[in-house]
Amino acid sequence: MSRSMMSDFGARFASLREEGLYKNERVIASPQGPEIEASLPGTSSRQVINFCANNYLGLSNDPEIRAAAKRTIDTRGFGLSSVRFICGTQDIHRELETRLNTFLGTEETILYAAAFDANGGLFEPLLSEEDAIISDELNHASIIDGIRLCKARRFRYRHADLDSLREQLREASDARYRIIATDGVFSMDGDIAPLPGILELARRYDALVMVDDSHATGYIGDRGRGSAEHHGVIGEIDIITTTFGKALGGASGACTSGRAEIIEMLRQRSRPYLFSNSVAPAVVGATLKALELVAERPELIETVKRNAVTFRERLRARGFDLVTGDTAIVPVMLYKEPLAVRMADMLYERGVYVIGFAFPVVPKGKARIRVQLSASHTAAHIDHAVHAFSEVGETLGVV
Ligand SMILES: *Cc1c(COP(=O)(O)O)cnc(C)c1O
Repeated sequence: MSRSMMSDFGARFASLREEGLYKNERVIASPQGPEIEASLPGTSSRQVINFCANNYLGLSNDPEIRAAAKRTIDTRGFGLSSVRFICGTQDIHRELETRLNTFLGTEETILYAAAFDANGGLFEPLLSEEDAIISDELNHASIIDGIRLCKARRFRYRHADLDSLREQLREASDARYRIIATDGVFSMDGDIAPLPGILELARRYDALVMVDDSHATGYIGDRGRGSAEHHGVIGEIDIITTTFGKALGGASGACTSGRAEIIEMLRQRSRPYLFSNSVAPAVVGATLKALELVAERPELIETVKRNAVTFRERLRARGFDLVTGDTAIVPVMLYKEPLAVRMADMLYERGVYVIGFAFPVVPKGKARIRVQLSASHTAAHIDHAVHAFSEVGETLGVV
């Protein structure tokens, strides 16, 4: 054991705490939902309204989804003890892949344990030294890691900036293949990628387009098909990666979906697919049910969108500095890390659970509180949050 490593780490934790960058996990003693029982270790738990889950449609603890998961355990068992290509593919895995083709408007789909794996295993099988990846500077960590695992040349464009993307595509024009990579909805700013402009440039510079729709699938677009539906470009995105761990029930599981040849190559060569366990049957059965519910209950999509608009308008009217956008992610900008943490703590004391986000999750000096709305929030929940924000904002001199 290296004593110097342990004491170096101790010093680093102390300075993280000082800068307001240390992450303390609150422990929840209830299912996920709009109201939860939460506590910090060593304190007693309290009921708070939850505004920091990716539970956009309120399906995380839906009775029909729970029932589907239980039913699938009874008919297909708990686990597969195998990867897909050895003895881990059940009929329901194929059924979910086919169902996702229809839902996303794509040719083929491959399941992964997590979207982190989908992105981690995406680029390396498709590209090599002669190729190029052109990536939005605010892309999710898993895209960045996936790019690192691949030998293609890397280009970065300014966030959602088409002029900057064009410049980078020009720089990459001598590559054999080019892939533009972007989040569909950006997790920290809550904005939607400008897909029509990106597709236009992709056509001009002969590039493929990859969109990570993890924060969009299930509730963005009129039928929840994601950022492509929002922009009216379903069927034009070459590669979509997305998670089932957010709007679609929120347990785990993910997929990559798109051109048949690309998915076929991933099934042959993608390392997180080949060397990691099959998605658990209960998750597959419950995700099939979640997709059914998205279609059967269009009011869920309407409600989460209306909740987000209401919350945005009311906070803006009270003078808060919000990042503009039309998703259920509402970032309240505070810039200073300790202020964001302090404000989140004070809101928590008033029964509003939100998280202050600081470096390295967002750039230094861009600290914020990210509020996430859900279809399961009632008007009373939103009222309570708006009042708490106003009170705390005034006390801290933010508004
Ligand atoms: C949440 C998220 C992921 C990771 O999803 P998991 O399935 O939990 O691994 C990947 N990409 C983006 C853009 C995300 O928001």
